[in-house]
Amino acid sequence: MTDSDPAALRRAVIQHLEGFQRAGLTHWKRIAPLVVETPQPVAPTASTGARPHHVDASPGSSLSSHSPSAPSLPSRAEVMPAARPNKSSTASTGAVASAPVVSACATFQPLNLPRGERVSQLSVLAERVAACVRCQELASTRKQTVFGVGNPEAKILFIGEAPGADEDAQGEPFVGRAGQLMNDIITACRMKREDIYICNVLRCRPPGNRLPSPEEAGNCREYLDGQIALVNPEYIVCWGSTAAKNLLASEETIGKLRGRFFEYGRAKVLCTYHPSYLLRNPAAKKDVWEDMKLLFKDMGVDLTAKT
Ligand code: SF4
Repeated sequence: MTDSDPAALRRAVIQHLEGFQRAGLTHWKRIAPLVVETPQPVAPTASTGARPHHVDASPGSSLSSHSPSAPSLPSRAEVMPAARPNKSSTASTGAVASAPVVSACATFQPLNLPRGERVSQLSVLAERVAACVRCQELASTRKQTVFGVGNPEAKILFIGEAPGADEDAQGEPFVGRAGQLMNDIITACRMKREDIYICNVLRCRPPGNRLPSPEEAGNCREYLDGQIALVNPEYIVCWGSTAAKNLLASEETIGKLRGRFFEYGRAKVLCTYHPSYLLRNPAAKKDVWEDMKLLFKDMGVDLTAKT
């Protein structure tokens, strides 16, 4: 996009505003400029210099898991994990409530900001993503970036793979057929889509829906970790092997990763099959249902009980 391209500029402005909306912002008093850093490895004690922003935002839903506290600012070093997952687990698969928690990244530091701060910081992050060109091929072929959507105080955060054609067109993760199946799963779990926070490993569509490359996933990791740190969920669900392998830095198949909990920061992580896989292999739906029962049993909810 150039300044002389009014149509592209208009699209960018609309996307920018939609990013605010998807992050939950309805109005604001004042947004101060964010100090944007060039992406590069940083020492664990480095800081981005990001400043707080203040917005009015309504209290969280009944599923909100966080109480307001004094705001602290996310630095990249605080947001980025400094250690890789523990791959030495010998825990077996199988949906059992007593499955061990495996430490995936004990040093990941989530934040615990008041709702307004979360909304504001997510909006700033969405703005950065909308302008991101780290992956040249993706940045030149995307219709728009797909940041994430949902409750900024969600107890559960979903991670998918990358935007497909529908997501690229609509700017929202998990829409289209796979998204409808995801919605059905959410409903079966007695929740609403807006109770959850949903994002992907990548925020731009890979051409032809190919798998994200390791370089692309690495480029986008800062944004994923930023969203996890800001939402600060109690549970993360990795939908499909791309999300599971990238978050946990595991080489295990999704079949081996599912059915047990891992740990990422303070969040318990559960991996299961991607809805797109379920569309091709409906028999695997029962495994996903077992995983959902395991997740909700850990939350104290028996999905098999009559309501
Ligand atoms: S996929 Fe992520 S890192 Fe790559 S260009 Fe898009 S927003 Fe930037």
